[in-house]
Amino acid sequence: MHNIVYMDEFHEGDLKPLEGLRKYFQLIKEGIPEFFPKSELNECSCPACSQSKIAAEFTKYGMRYIECESCNSLWVSPRPSEIALIRYFEESKAEIFWRNEFIHMTDRKRKEKILQPWIRWITESTQEYYANARSIADIHTKQPVYLDELQKIERFQEKVLISPFLSQTVLKEHPSMRVFQEPAIEGLENQQLDVITVFDGLGMTADPFALLSAIFSALAPGGLCFLTTTLISGFDLQTLWDAAENIHPPTRLNIFSDTGLLTLVQKTGFECIEFSTPGVLDLEIVAAEQQKNSSNSIPRFIAYLLKHRDENTHKAFQEFLQAHRLSSYGRLLLRKPT
Ligand SMILES: [Zn+2]
Repeated sequence: MHNIVYMDEFHEGDLKPLEGLRKYFQLIKEGIPEFFPKSELNECSCPACSQSKIAAEFTKYGMRYIECESCNSLWVSPRPSEIALIRYFEESKAEIFWRNEFIHMTDRKRKEKILQPWIRWITESTQEYYANARSIADIHTKQPVYLDELQKIERFQEKVLISPFLSQTVLKEHPSMRVFQEPAIEGLENQQLDVITVFDGLGMTADPFALLSAIFSALAPGGLCFLTTTLISGFDLQTLWDAAENIHPPTRLNIFSDTGLLTLVQKTGFECIEFSTPGVLDLEIVAAEQQKNSSNSIPRFIAYLLKHRDENTHKAFQEFLQAHRLSSYGRLLLRKPT
């Protein structure tokens, strides 16, 4: 299993401008009680290893996060159903703001720093592991600009889009794609695909095992799944814990540890070809949170490292996190055995 180290220069504000982020979080707080009444939530055990012993817990925006004692994944329980989640992603003010305004505040940087590296990753890895691949499908993207990039890849003859929450404008702009405006699990039924991409979708589904199993079934033998997700085993989330802005329902219902995610992947039958954490922002996020809110005490060693070491040491520290798969941004390349 490969682990790719990928150092790049950018900052959190390049992708998530502060003003936009504040408005997004405010809209989430207002939307949660409206879309997810407590009487309609369902208890569940760890979505990675199925255990239910609790190591720690906290509440965020009215929802309960539980840490698994066994694999240390973090998950929301009780949680909304998939139907309620899809309605939220289609109709909530927070998500409409996200796709119509927030995401476009940073189009250029997002394209350069996130989307184009995804496209390079897909094309190069497909060439290496499944050179005969003809079809590619994306599931539940929240980033319409990604579809612009996907549309340009010439090596796939057939491009499929499976998502219940894309606007008509976005669909019209991508006429070469075959579209299924359905939830992923239904949209994947009866498909035979060579490559499937699911960027961040695993974190926001009510049933990650069901989603991964549906992807597995829809892939041809030897088919590839490119996946990104937020990992609780990452440095910034472990350090900031419940104060981390990146932990918020319902977009992050499942925040796996790297150990937990591997357990889940093995249960579905996939072979894991690559598991990397090419995040570059962990230390910067902790430093920003400390400056913003000095009452949040961070470990003394980290405070010392931030105060008394220069940029080169900070970069080397971030590189260490990547080399040992301890950043909170995870990417996996999975293959269905032949
Ligand atoms: Zn677990």
